Amino acid sequence: MACAWLPAGLNAQTMAPSGSTPASATSLPLLGDGSAMASAEERRLGDRIARELFRDPDYLDDPVLADYVQGVWQPLLRAARVRGDLTPELDERFAWHVMLGRDRTVNAFALPGGYLGVNLGLLAVVSSRDELASVLGHELSHVTQRHISRLIAKDTAQTPWLIGAMILGALAASKSPDAASALMVGGQAVAAQNQLNFSRDMEREADRIGLGVMTQAGFEAQGFVTMFDKLQQAARLNDSGSYPYLRSHPLTTERIADMQSRLPLGAPQAVATAPQMRHAMMATRAKVLANTGVDALRTWQAQVDDPGLRSAPAAQQAGALYGAALAALQLRDPTLARRNLARLQAITSVDAGSAEPVRWLGAEIDLTARDLTPAQLTDLATRLGLREATTTPVANMRRPELLLQAQVALQLNQNAALSSVTQNLQTWLTTQPQDALAWQALAGLYRAQNQSLRALRAEAEAQAARLDYTGAMDRLRAAQDLMRANPTGGSSADHIDASIIDTRQRQIEALLKQQAVNP
Ligand SMILES: [Zn+2]
Repeated sequence: MACAWLPAGLNAQTMAPSGSTPASATSLPLLGDGSAMASAEERRLGDRIARELFRDPDYLDDPVLADYVQGVWQPLLRAARVRGDLTPELDERFAWHVMLGRDRTVNAFALPGGYLGVNLGLLAVVSSRDELASVLGHELSHVTQRHISRLIAKDTAQTPWLIGAMILGALAASKSPDAASALMVGGQAVAAQNQLNFSRDMEREADRIGLGVMTQAGFEAQGFVTMFDKLQQAARLNDSGSYPYLRSHPLTTERIADMQSRLPLGAPQAVATAPQMRHAMMATRAKVLANTGVDALRTWQAQVDDPGLRSAPAAQQAGALYGAALAALQLRDPTLARRNLARLQAITSVDAGSAEPVRWLGAEIDLTARDLTPAQLTDLATRLGLREATTTPVANMRRPELLLQAQVALQLNQNAALSSVTQNLQTWLTTQPQDALAWQALAGLYRAQNQSLRALRAEAEAQAARLDYTGAMDRLRAAQDLMRANPTGGSSADHIDASIIDTRQRQIEALLKQQAVNP
């Protein structure tokens, strides 16, 4: 568990770049324009780092929070395309993948190749979608402006492997101050982090373009100011230990003045807007999932048992009740979770934007309790949008709902439900083939329908989506063994499955070889 962000076998010594600059150096030598890393090369480096992060115990694909972040991230991407900041070439070549980390520290970071890291700690402190958009827009702009490729110039003596290790080391060092990993990586990682920091000009550019992107996407520019204000207060409290974002993004008065001058005239400055209910619930979800220790989970109930809560703003009540219900669920107390949920339903019934997260939380509680009758499960499936004849176009599908549908179908264990959800997931995966969790859910559904070959293939795809090609090969070989052991009667469906498995096996083998060539 310690050294969680570090790839196995690395230690502080191997992370020191060969012939490295002393720890006091503040920037990596920026070489001329012609030496910037090519986008294909940057993507390979990003994949290398992402592969380690996918394996990290702190990596979290929480469908509900991921959906919330995507609701901000996708409009930003679209806006960057419209503005021309994101070129078609880069759009196609990079991953544009947001990875959530369970870490409690306030941080978001751009990684090579279009990967973006967002800590739950950040989600827990932002007060609005606009504030989140300001941080994500800024990080997105670091990527679209090719700041990373300029930092990692081609002709440094460091191999991509070493650069990847340095970045992972810097991430480990930015973790919660109480984490053992921070001690273990020590000074070397800090040196690496200093080398990997963006220049002031890059920061200014990311601010300017990020602001343009977020306003084009329809977010309030005010979010940038309130976020700055929040970071500034944290800096004043000397709280940068739990705000690594501050260390990599120092708030100079110049930077703040620059941004304020860009805001529309007459925009009120740093006024905290009342958080909406949905946002309050998502921020609370991040807080609960960032700290799942029993003691921390128990504190949530005390808040909602306090009669004073009833006089708090509605959004605050909704956040507290959502948190208490989720915490009770984590503590495996569905009775208490349902009591909190009932209060939450009462207070959010007036707010249309709250319907989805409240419905999803209710489903999570029911599925964890495992006490629903078949009739109740069928009713739950209907509430989650599962109908017998699946006609939902993929654009209208909601990922958290799909994944919950899969769980309901497995508990119900009836053919009609299993096959409807299977179809839904297949449709979803045609446009989202990188969705490891959806592949995993599909594998479970195939198993429940005794389709072992397809289950193995889906498991292989789940591994491949996390860039673990060795794991994927393992599943595909198991599928081929199964085919040999059970030669089929030759139905066309079996032939199609067999040929897909053989094709994927060759493709993945090629990817594995590529990895071996570029260690
Ligand atoms: Zn920045």
